[in-house]
Amino acid sequence: MMRVGLTGGIGSGKTTVARIFELLGIPVYYADDAAKRLMNENQELREDIQKTFGPDSYAGGTLNRAYLSGIVFRDPAKLQVLNALVHPVTIADAETWMRKQQSPYAIKEAALIFESGSDAQLDAVIGVYAPTDLRIRRTMERDGASREQVLARMNRQMNEEEKMARCTYVLQNNETELLIPQVLELHGQLMQRAANFV
Ligand code: ATP
Repeated sequence: MMRVGLTGGIGSGKTTVARIFELLGIPVYYADDAAKRLMNENQELREDIQKTFGPDSYAGGTLNRAYLSGIVFRDPAKLQVLNALVHPVTIADAETWMRKQQSPYAIKEAALIFESGSDAQLDAVIGVYAPTDLRIRRTMERDGASREQVLARMNRQMNEEEKMARCTYVLQNNETELLIPQVLELHGQLMQRAANFV
């Protein structure tokens, strides 16, 4: 089974593209959702987070997201520490999930594929590219966030051009090129590639 990553910056349209692949019958692992679940369910990870960020990291048995994001939002070094705890567990969980899938290929959707090193476990990576202004506008609308809040989140991510240059395939999610035909075309290519995959 071929393992394909799907990435892009905030508001680029990763989740939108992932949903189209799902409609085509391709299973998708959503790394952000999985990480949130694992921070609650994985006992070892819970202990590591508590040891590193203090007992307040969990309240009433569940992750205290407000407390933890209050810490890592202001301090990029602390965010890196949290990511270093969460990413290996999520990568391992995605691997287990991938092994169970029966389709010709399966997708892992994640904002931080290259930053987390999870590209090492993938056979190809799809990048979703949208112009910065459009990403800002779409994210503001989706999250009810201000321009400044979106920019602050964007500035913490890897440069988009650099990220796209590392992808095997790039989908253009702008206002002129239609997204669905691009996904259909890529799905055809991936099915062919998967058929020859050993
Ligand atoms: P994040 O990293 O923040 O989770 P994302 O890359 O998963 O973002 P999406 O949530 O898929 O991005 O898209 C951002 C917003 O833009 C959503 O509200 C989505 O519906 C909208 N959007 C994405 N692509 C298009 C498109 N081609 N046409 C119209 N709206 C779109």
